[in-house]
Parts: sequence; structure tokens; C-alpha cells
Amino acid sequence: MLFQFSPIIPVYALVAVLMLYLSARTWNLRPARGASAWSMTLLFCAIHTLGTCLEIAFATPVLKLAMNRVIYVGTTGFVFFWGIFAIQYSNHGRWLNRVTLPLLAIVPACTLVLALFAEQHHLLYRAYEFVYLDGLLLGQVAAYGALFYLWVTYSYIVFVSSWLLLLLTAIRSQAIFRNQIWLVILASAVPMITYVLQLFGLKLYAPYYPLAFAMAFAGVIMLLAMTRLRFGDILPVAYDQIFRNVKGGIILLDLKGRVAGLNHAAERILGSSEKDVLWKEARDAFPEQRHLIKQFEYVNEIKTEVAMSAVGPFYELQITPLTSHHGEPAGRVVMFYDITERKQIEQKTLELTVEQERVAILRQFISHMSHDLRTPLAILKLTEYALRNDLKGQLPNRVDMLEKQTDRLIEMVESMLTMLRLEGEKLDSLGAVDMNELICTVIERHRLLAQERGTQLQFNRSQELPFVVANRDELLLALSNLVVNAIHYSSGGEIIMDTAHDQESVVISVCDSGIGISAEHLPHIFERFYRVDDARGTQNGGLGLGLTITKTIVERHAGTIDVQSQLGEGSQFSIRLPLEQAS
Ligand code: ADP
Repeated sequence: MLFQFSPIIPVYALVAVLMLYLSARTWNLRPARGASAWSMTLLFCAIHTLGTCLEIAFATPVLKLAMNRVIYVGTTGFVFFWGIFAIQYSNHGRWLNRVTLPLLAIVPACTLVLALFAEQHHLLYRAYEFVYLDGLLLGQVAAYGALFYLWVTYSYIVFVSSWLLLLLTAIRSQAIFRNQIWLVILASAVPMITYVLQLFGLKLYAPYYPLAFAMAFAGVIMLLAMTRLRFGDILPVAYDQIFRNVKGGIILLDLKGRVAGLNHAAERILGSSEKDVLWKEARDAFPEQRHLIKQFEYVNEIKTEVAMSAVGPFYELQITPLTSHHGEPAGRVVMFYDITERKQIEQKTLELTVEQERVAILRQFISHMSHDLRTPLAILKLTEYALRNDLKGQLPNRVDMLEKQTDRLIEMVESMLTMLRLEGEKLDSLGAVDMNELICTVIERHRLLAQERGTQLQFNRSQELPFVVANRDELLLALSNLVVNAIHYSSGGEIIMDTAHDQESVVISVCDSGIGISAEHLPHIFERFYRVDDARGTQNGGLGLGLTITKTIVERHAGTIDVQSQLGEGSQFSIRLPLEQAS
């Protein structure tokens, strides 16, 4: 009789087929670290199981002994590749080279060769016997040889060091990846414990050798892990490497806002090591960044820029929610990239733009100035000619003109100097100013001009107007500019000034019924040198600096200025000054 039957035989066969399948599936995941070695481990396990299966199935001693060789092929290959897997999986692949690989292979290779000729020597076993057990003929070693114990020691060293490697990897890896590595350790635990127990002499009754089942169990768990947890695509160690070494800072927060992990860059930027902050609440973990953390403590998703201090460094901060495989919230990832360099470039570009604007304004100014100076200068020249030639009857007329143009020139130069002063000097000489009294002064000063133009100046004062803290001279100038404009740009009619106040501010308005300003010009009238009617050399108005000066003064006092105007109907300028000066 060549064969014998036991119900365990088809079970072994099934397990062997399952392991072959698992080996093939894992082989396909090869680019992933450790996948090829694990696939080979499973393949040799399949060979081992198949050998076991056939050894039981064959009923003749010769074939049984032949299958014993096959089992040795499986065992030696299995132990060797297991070691390789642990090295690769724990990210120490660089240890494997042309010297270390043959060194690792030497014991299994010798054991295998000796096993093939086990009957010719007694190094592996000294006696092999065949016994009948429950009607089955089974082979078993009666006495082991010396070399067997060498092999046992080698296997033992490989298993223990592989375990230590995997354990170290699990401990050193980021908290978030640790579970996956624990799973690998769990998967390998069952066959390893079984194997070690067998080495220590735990005899399980033949033909129920547990190693094959334990390996099948490990193979299934690993496949589940690879497909369900998908760490076969890029093994966790690879994730771990990316997470650790990426240039930007990454902090993982759990649902309670506690630190679940942080990478090297985050450790460097925040000056805290992962072990010191792990599972602490973010605000306790990074006390120096408390103000920032407070701002984003409950923010689930955002992309913004933050500064560690007023002068930098600057970071782009991104918070993204984390969800579990089942789509439930799991925490948040906080990422930050250093953008200090970009910010500095932006700042420089801004400064350059401002500088370019300054140059443009200067060019515009020179051009306007040349036009503006041309008219009075021409008149002065003509007057000088008239005076020199003592032209009859023209003298008083010319002197008047001379005076007017000289005044205009002085006024223009004064405006420019005022503008320069306002831009260069800090606001000082502050005192309590009664705006009602100030407006009366302005009216007094320009009454004559208004009369000449046939314009009435009217003032509706608010009773009990609170004083404002201000530089009186500057406010006088600001209001004068508005009143002079109102006179210049109206012919006849009335100019009405009002004062009013509320809890926080005093409001002064100057309202005329003059030519008004069209909507197209209105947004620009406060710009430097902007004039609605740009026909140079007009007798009215100045350089287009009057309103710029007024606005600058008002803003120096933390106030605002508004204008409302209708072409042909008139304009109303309103200044609002705060009662409390901003410090
Ligand atoms: P300017 O020295 O030319 O008066 P401003 O800066 O004082 O310069 O005013 C800018 C422009 O705004 C003026 O050229 C004028 O066209 C217009 N403007 C200012 N105030 C009035 C007003 N009350 N009515 C109509 N137009 C005005």
C-alpha cells in the first residue's frame, strides 16, 4: 500500500494551497518594503506544509524519508527568509549586502545539504523510527545529532533578534503608525511561539503539527493588514520615514486636542521633543505658542499665515481634519511650512513698489510744478519789462499783478513745505481746541475773500461742543483749505459751516452751493496734485495739494474726512475728529 488516509491530510493540503496563494498575493506587493521576503517566507512554509502533508499520506518508509527532506527545505528556507523579512521590514535593508547575506545563509544552507544526506551521517539525527499510531504509519526522530542543535541555536537567534528588531521598530515609530507594526508582531507571534515551544520539546501529537496552521494564521492576518489597512502599498515604516523627515512641521492631534505625534521638523521649530509632549493638550505641550494655539484651538480646517513673532519667522499653517477608515472624525493634522523667505521677498517687492510710486509722484510733481511756475514767472517777466519801460498808465495794474503772482508763488512753496513737514514730523503741541472758536477764526480770515466773490459765510454752531485734543494750527490750516476751496469753486451763494458732536467725536462740515465735483473725479480729489480742471495757469486754486494737506492733518488726529458732491449743485466736506486721541 502506497498511501494511507487521515482526515488531517486534506486540511494540510488546503493550508499549503492557502499559503501558496498568500505568498503570490504578497509577491505582487513587492515594491513595498519586506513584501518579497514575507512572500518567500510563506512559500517555504507552503513547501514545509506540503512536505508534512505528503509525509503523512505516504505509507512507505522510503517516501516518508524523502518527504522529510522536503520538510527540511521548507524549514531552512522559512527561517532564513523570516530573518530577511524582519531586517527589511524594520527598515534596515542596508544591512543586507554581499557579505552579510551569505553569512546569514551559511547555516541554513549547510543544514539543508546535510539533511538531504541525513542517512549517510548522524549529524542531524542518530536514529529515525517508524511507528504505528491510530492505524497510521508515522516517522519520527528517535535521537537528534549534534548538528541539529547548531541549527536549533541558529533558528533561535534568528527568531529572537527578528522579534527584537520588530519590537524596536514598533517602539521607535510614530504613535500613529505603531498599531500597524503591532499587528505584524501579532501575526508573527503565533508561529514563533509555536516554533520556539517545539524547539523546547513541546511534543504535540503526530500528525497534528501546529506550525503549519500557525503560519497560515499569520499569512491571513498579514494579508488582511495589507489589504484592509493598506500598509502593504507603502509599509508603515515608509510612511513613518516620510512623516519624520518631511521638511514642514507636522503635529497630529487626537479628538481631545492632545498631541498624538509630531515629526522632526515640528520638534525643531517648537523646541520640544515628541516624548515630552505626547498625549498632552496642545496648549500645555507648547506653552510658548499659547497665543497661537488659543486662536486655532477649535478650528477644524484652515489654511492661513502665522508669525511666531512680529519679525518672523513666518509660517503657512494648515489644519486638516482626520477621519477614520469608517469616515468618523479621528483628530486633526496641523502642518506648517516656513515661508519667511517668501515673506521677505514680498516685503522687498512692496518696498520697491512704494519707491516706484514715490518716483512717479516726484516726476508728476516736477511736471506740474514747471507748468504752475511758468504762468507767474511769465507775468513777472512781463511786469518787469513794463516797469523797466515805464509804460504809461499800466503801472498800478502791473504792481497789482506782481503782488498777486508773488503771493501765488509764495502760497505754492508754502503748500509744498507744509506737505513735507506733515509727512516728516510727529504730531505735537497738542491742546484742548474749541472747534466753534476755531471756525470763527477761519471765517474772520477769509471774510474779505468771500466778500470779493460775493459769497456769504454762515456758521451754525453746536452748543456745548466738547473740546478736542489737537494741534490748533494744523486744524486751522485744514479748515482754511476747505473754506478757501468752497469760496474758489462757487460764485456767489452761501457757504454754510456746521459743528455737531456725539459720544465719541466732533463733526465739522463745510457746505457750498458751488460748481460741485463729478462722480468720476470724486474718488481722486484727495490725491496729491490732483486737480479736476487741470488747465494750468488758472488764477484759482493751487497745486492740487490743499485737500491732501487737509486729509493728512485729519488723519494725523485719528479722524476721517468725507465728501459728498453733485456737479452743478455744490459740495459738502465733513471732518470727524475723535474726542479721545488714539495714543
Ligand atoms: P487746489 O489747490 O487745486 O484747490 P485741492 O487739493 O484743494 O487743490 O483740490 C483738488 C481739486 O478738488 C480741485 O482742483 C477742485 O477741482 C476740486 N475741489 C476741491 N474743493 C472743491 C469744492 N468745494 N467745490 C468744487 N470742487 C472742489
